[in-house]
Amino acid sequence: MDFTEAQIHRYARHILLPEVGGEGQARLLAAKVLVIGAGGLGSPLILYLAAAGVGTIGVVDDDVVELSNLQRQILHVTDSVGSAKVDSAVRAVAAINPDVTLVPHRLRLTEQNARALIGQYDLVADGSDNFATRFLVNDAAQAEGKTLVSAAVLRFEGQISTFKPGGPCYRCLHPDDLSEADLPNCGQAGVFGAMAGLMGSLQAVEVLKEILGIGDSLSGSLLLVDALSTAFRKIGLKRDPACSCCGKV
Ligand SMILES: [Zn+2]
Repeated sequence: MDFTEAQIHRYARHILLPEVGGEGQARLLAAKVLVIGAGGLGSPLILYLAAAGVGTIGVVDDDVVELSNLQRQILHVTDSVGSAKVDSAVRAVAAINPDVTLVPHRLRLTEQNARALIGQYDLVADGSDNFATRFLVNDAAQAEGKTLVSAAVLRFEGQISTFKPGGPCYRCLHPDDLSEADLPNCGQAGVFGAMAGLMGSLQAVEVLKEILGIGDSLSGSLLLVDALSTAFRKIGLKRDPACSCCGKV
């Protein structure tokens, strides 16, 4: 791929890294990533993917920006309160990097549309705020043979893992369908804003590593982060041979 003069300047600090280089940067520019949710996790995730030059970023979100989002959802600005989050995302990304196309999907993910949508992208990153969507994204990503980088945050705690086709998958981690009755969401329990920033940034790091094929994948591991004790704990995650999802792939 031939870079323009501006691109050589823009991506100079990436191109300097032997693990990225011109070839890796070209790979990022050709990559298509689907982000589920333009909220607390999706904000830093989308911003870093755009800054890194990931060429196509699809964003699924049917919400509008609310004032109470701005404490952590750094993609959105005060003037965007009341506009669709995907439209706000388009504006933010256009301002950061003209090399990037943000494809807005202003809809709610359903069993009817999930596979067709995920199938159009190379990789999916889930930053949604509810269990039903997380299970749906996991099942569709497994069925479409796509790698999924999934993160979650609540109060001062976060977790992140990567699920690849063939498992372990999100259902191996949570064999029983969880619902909001089992665990409160951010709207009920609160969330430390910068903690969403940390987990969404970690998600961006893992997405970029997967595209570049560098380092150790988080597949087979779950990283648990506790902000109050500043503790990071990585535990092993095994495929459940009885898993109702990845067992079938
Ligand atoms: Zn599984």
